[in-house]
Amino acid sequence: MRILVVEDDFVSRCVFSEYLKPYGEVDVAENGLEGVNAFQAALNEGKPFQLVCLDIMMPEMDGQTVLKEIRILEEKREIRGLDGAKVIMTTALDDFQSIMTAFKGQCEGYLVKPIEKAKLVQQLKNLGLISDDIS
Ligand SMILES: [Mg+2]
Repeated sequence: MRILVVEDDFVSRCVFSEYLKPYGEVDVAENGLEGVNAFQAALNEGKPFQLVCLDIMMPEMDGQTVLKEIRILEEKREIRGLDGAKVIMTTALDDFQSIMTAFKGQCEGYLVKPIEKAKLVQQLKNLGLISDDIS
């Protein structure tokens, strides 16, 4: 599968790439705007991302806005529900408002940093992106 990591922190980008590369082809974006552009480019090429790991606090465009933009881009192409990308918010923000806003924005998962590999892999299983047998 194609995976997009949208994250402004260099170390976090490396960690996500390392954790996720066994499960697909990982691309990274360094801020929100770059993330939306990468997502759109992939749709235009007919090779959409199946998974997006999305930070919230980022320059240019925050992750909540990126999430909205992603769903708008999909809606324009009549990509809905299960056909859309699975978006997991990966953030230091653990307050109720941030979590509610993200789920209203139609994210599928929400992980609070520091991200543990086991929790990330469990999310991929829960979302049906990888098989239950994979460790
Ligand atoms: Mg950040």
